[in-house]
Amino acid sequence: MANLSSKALIRVDIQNDFLANSSVAIARAQEIIPNVNELSCNSFFKLVVDIRDCHKPTHKSFAKWGQHCIEGSYGYNPPSTLYVNSNIKLFHKGMDDKVDTLSGFENPELLPYLLAQKIQSIYIVGLALDFCVLSTAIDAVKYNFATYIILDACKGINVNMDNLTFQKKLASQGIKTLKTADILSLK
Ligand SMILES: [Zn+2]
Repeated sequence: MANLSSKALIRVDIQNDFLANSSVAIARAQEIIPNVNELSCNSFFKLVVDIRDCHKPTHKSFAKWGQHCIEGSYGYNPPSTLYVNSNIKLFHKGMDDKVDTLSGFENPELLPYLLAQKIQSIYIVGLALDFCVLSTAIDAVKYNFATYIILDACKGINVNMDNLTFQKKLASQGIKTLKTADILSLK
């Protein structure tokens, strides 16, 4: 049967530097990997997209965050535990040295790709919940996608997924939230 799903899973910044041993590492970030992997293999989604931070060694944001995700480095790469396959389309952000980017939609190729694939709903997972995941979700709402953050497949820097103030902030911006089990039970 044809897959009529119009849903995309967007995986944000699941890269070694955000997981451990760098100035941008997020505590316990590796805990999200099993949920992200389960979701990535689920036919609920028509497609899976990876957003990756990718900088030259002279990027502007290093003044604030320290060096991270330098193109071609170990820290740029996804962890070996992350499920990958050749159908997952990759989009970079942070290629321009002078611009600090948080949202995946700052790559101008992402929106046309999603529209060409007839995607209507976007489900976002990854790192960090309160920075790049949030910014990507805000842009997704702006571009009229039904927008969801799968909370237990994200890890935040200053918030955890049970923070009710943060959840209310998301709701007020038109971002819906759910958990990995909600998707798996929908199948
Ligand atoms: Zn960066």
